[in-house]
Amino acid sequence: MADKTSRTGVAYATPAILELVERVHAAHDPALERAYRSPELRDMPTISLAPSEGKLVQLLTQLSGAKRAVEIGTLAGYSAVHIARGLGEGGMLDTLEIDPRHAEIARANIEAAGLSDRVRVHIGSAAEILPSLVARGPFDLVFLDADKAGYPEYSIWAADNLRSGGVLIADNAYYFGALLADDPSARAMRRFHEELPARFASVCAPTPDGLVIAIRKP
Ligand code: SAH
Ligand code: MG
Repeated sequence: MADKTSRTGVAYATPAILELVERVHAAHDPALERAYRSPELRDMPTISLAPSEGKLVQLLTQLSGAKRAVEIGTLAGYSAVHIARGLGEGGMLDTLEIDPRHAEIARANIEAAGLSDRVRVHIGSAAEILPSLVARGPFDLVFLDADKAGYPEYSIWAADNLRSGGVLIADNAYYFGALLADDPSARAMRRFHEELPARFASVCAPTPDGLVIAIRKP
């Protein structure tokens, strides 16, 4: 034990440790539980953030003082509920979802969480919808969690439409473990990483699938 440190890449987390800290720090209230369970109950992919990741995104939103946010990839609204809570009263989240069924379920979950007044769910591809949001900017926070091939384009949009000091967060930054693979999405995800430092101060936090956290440079 003594000769191992986290600097060597050793992961100390065990399933039981993760279960304990998640239960203590990221417990679900009924609204979060509903949004978290929706995918398995409604035949959607079970690919939302994990509870501790959701809470991390909520606290980053709150810490940054963000009031206006954009999310790409809504699914059932689990991460949207976290972001909207982090924005607080008077905040506004525009969340983009290409699948109308996902969007409909997300709207119901957001309504059940009492957050309809600060979340707009847009149906369509992010590439189509993002240009219509420009006039509402600049934004304080952008969260990427949709098609991975789109990350380079979405992060350029984020750099152009975040205020100086605004926050970019991107999930699945290890691309499900295939970041070094030879397919178009993996190449896009590598390009996303490589292009980021020019316009952001950035880090890839070692969540199970990597979470990029970045601040727009002045
Ligand atoms: N952020 C959610 C999980 C999102 S899963 C959470 O943590 O709770 C990814 C979602 O992105 C899916 O619902 C998928 O339909 C959507 N998506 C995929 N490609 C998209 C695109 N081009 N534009 C908008 N949404 C897209
Ligand atoms: Mg994800």
